[in-house]
Amino acid sequence: MVRALRPIVTGRRILAAELNLKRTAPELSRAAFGRQLRNLRITGVGRRGKYILFELESGRLLATHLRMTGKFLSLTADDALPPYAHVVFYLDDERRLVFCDMRQFGRMRLIRDASRLPKELTALAPEPLSDEFTEEYFLETLSRSRRSLKQLLLDQTRVLGLGNIYAVEALFLARINPTKPANRLSKSRARKLYQAIRQILREAIDAGSTLRIDLADGNGSYFETPERFWRVYEREGEPCVNCGTRIRRIVHGGRSTYYCPRCQRN
Ligand SMILES: [Zn+2]
Repeated sequence: MVRALRPIVTGRRILAAELNLKRTAPELSRAAFGRQLRNLRITGVGRRGKYILFELESGRLLATHLRMTGKFLSLTADDALPPYAHVVFYLDDERRLVFCDMRQFGRMRLIRDASRLPKELTALAPEPLSDEFTEEYFLETLSRSRRSLKQLLLDQTRVLGLGNIYAVEALFLARINPTKPANRLSKSRARKLYQAIRQILREAIDAGSTLRIDLADGNGSYFETPERFWRVYEREGEPCVNCGTRIRRIVHGGRSTYYCPRCQRN
């Protein structure tokens, strides 16, 4: 997503910013949203965990979390506004960057000083593909938790960047039962899981994430990937790619969890 946004917005000036749905940016009134973003140049786009960070002139950041259905579209002046266009940025190249969000869980937050990040960002675990996310860090984190591995992997303050799909996939790849308590996993299996997490994230990035994203193509819509590259996610009842056993679905911690009852027996 960030890679798709960068070439479209970097260097552009925001001529006007319209907040059409108050809850998308709950800390600001619509008037304040427009006033505080107007005339600022976007100097870059960064990311921390699942937060997209628009870097703005004067050291400000606009942090965006897409949650379930949030997405950005890049529209020309002639394109009609799509449904659920909750935020519209009018850019100085006559394009509009539009934030659409059918389910309305997505959030934006203006951070006035990029050198003083709010706790929701500073509390995040190290980036999983960075050098900081070491095997030692991961093993130590697991040994301190009695929660299930599935729940621990989704806690962004412990392991960053995995959502439900990638947590399920990493556990399958490492052949570990999702409900196993984190501190009961042997070191050798924990190392396998560490490798699996990094492999799954690299594969996902190469495949264009869970959605194929090309903001600059046509009207800048998203396209669902034509083929699912997931090994177990949403494959309930289908044969396991390793052993042929039917994939099972359970609800664990309120989320659908898919696993092979044979490969991931314990
Ligand atoms: Zn299997």
